[in-house]
Amino acid sequence: MADPVNTDERKCAHQKCTCMVTGGKRYCSDDCEDAADSDPTSECTCGHPGCK
Ligand SMILES: [Zn+2]
Ligand SMILES: [Zn+2]
Repeated sequence: MADPVNTDERKCAHQKCTCMVTGGKRYCSDDCEDAADSDPTSECTCGHPGCK
């Protein structure tokens, strides 16, 4: 059975990234985490469809 409380979805913490993240993580990928750490305003390089 699906748990309706377990649909915790938020935007990736990278400023320029528009991906959604689930599972309590802050970034959609390691790329975003590294990029946000070194240069928060850099373009997202996660490579996910619809995100650049
Ligand atoms: Zn992205
Ligand atoms: Zn991201």
